[in-house]
Amino acid sequence: MTDKKRIAIIGGGFGGLFTALDLSSAGDVTLISEEDHFLFTPMLYEYLSGEVEAWHIAPNQKELLDESITFIRDTVVAVDLRARTVSLKLRNKQISYDVLVLGVGGVSNFAGVNGAAEHSIPFRKIADADKLRSRMVDALDHVPPDFPPQDTQQALTFAVVGAGASGVELATKMADLLRDAFKRRALRGEPRVLVIEMGDRVVPGMGDEIREVVEEALLSSHVEVHSLTRVVRVGEKSLTIEHDGKQTEIATAAVAWTGGVRVSPLVESLEVEKTSRGLIVVRPTLQVTDHDNVFALGDIAHFTDAPPILAGTAQLALQQAGLVAKNIEALLNGRELQTKHFAELGEAVSLGTERAAVLAGGKVFGGALARQARFALYTSRLPTWQHRLRVGASWFFEGTTPRPLLPLGARR
Ligand SMILES: Cc1cc2nc3c(=O)[nH]c(=O)nc-3n(C[C@H](O)[C@H](O)[C@H](O)COP(=O)(O)OP(=O)(O)OC[C@H]3O[C@@H](n4cnc5c(N)ncnc54)[C@H](O)[C@@H]3O)c2cc1C
Repeated sequence: MTDKKRIAIIGGGFGGLFTALDLSSAGDVTLISEEDHFLFTPMLYEYLSGEVEAWHIAPNQKELLDESITFIRDTVVAVDLRARTVSLKLRNKQISYDVLVLGVGGVSNFAGVNGAAEHSIPFRKIADADKLRSRMVDALDHVPPDFPPQDTQQALTFAVVGAGASGVELATKMADLLRDAFKRRALRGEPRVLVIEMGDRVVPGMGDEIREVVEEALLSSHVEVHSLTRVVRVGEKSLTIEHDGKQTEIATAAVAWTGGVRVSPLVESLEVEKTSRGLIVVRPTLQVTDHDNVFALGDIAHFTDAPPILAGTAQLALQQAGLVAKNIEALLNGRELQTKHFAELGEAVSLGTERAAVLAGGKVFGGALARQARFALYTSRLPTWQHRLRVGASWFFEGTTPRPLLPLGARR
């Protein structure tokens, strides 16, 4: 028999996994997550381009966690805050807890756009990047080298919805990869990559200096930016946009969706205090209102004492995880719970396969050096020092060259 308290953590992302890693021996810790791996989302673009491999950025949870932590791969479909249980989908059973951590992150927000959920490809998971890459290869494979340039361009038009950091990172990466494939396959003309943005500028929320670097990169990667433009409909092979009251239908090989995030159905089902956007209101200690034994963090939590630019970022979830772990230990040991001011740790944006932009210490720098700095910075933010060492060594000795979009079945 053990008198250790049961700590259940739902979600193995930045918030949940890093809380579990920091908790160690505080209680009987169980981490429940839908996927068997963690995902370092800031480098999903590099996974798309083959600059990094799946094991670098999506290590298996069991490799990261020490044996004292139980990992369950399953989806939590309900939480009963009174009975203190969570219900699992695949195992069709309930797990009881004394302390609960909610770190389930967000889901793609298709904002009710006709056909978007069915036909566009979200960009949030390894499987999404695999799907997008195979659509790019498939579209290229269908274009013979003697195709006229205008037909080639029409067959190889890709759209990215949303010009936030995610949209511009994805669009520049796709454009560079496609242009490289054009050269290798001796195709005529150019691919077309569009970014569709409702607002009047790219990377809204970021400073002007970093925006300038981003705009230059979009230009040099030949990405077409359509601002003040609304997506009206996504079809199987088309996209309809509206600008200045005029609608245009564009034939597309694929539409990638980076148009926003909303809370998941599990969070919607919870009867706790929330904001108008459905985020869980947390106290400065990251405890959920009226539930001392329940903590929420990351993309689903509304925490007032953080710079607005940090909302919905990995760097906030990561910092909050440390506080949640400390506060759980304090709660279980009868000590006073703490709060913390979360600071901005700097920004790093990937811009195609050869450049990046990094904001550090109030200064912005771009280009190939920034790309290297971004890899170095992100090595230090990967979970566990063992994983960091393995990945750092692999990037240093084996390199981070993109994997070209070769014809299906061809060897590199
Ligand atoms: C492509 C991309 C690039 C990004 N780049 C950056 C960046 O450069 N910098 C930055 O700061 N932020 C970035 N972000 C945002 C960052 O990923 C999130 O802010 C961060 O992941 C939030 O952490 P979280 O723990 O709240 O959620 P997540 O990391 O999303 O983790 C949630 C976990 O919960 C699991 N889960 C969900 N529902 C359930 C359920 N019902 N039952 C069990 N498990 C469940 C999910 O599978 C997932 O493992 C990026 C996001 C994306 C998608």
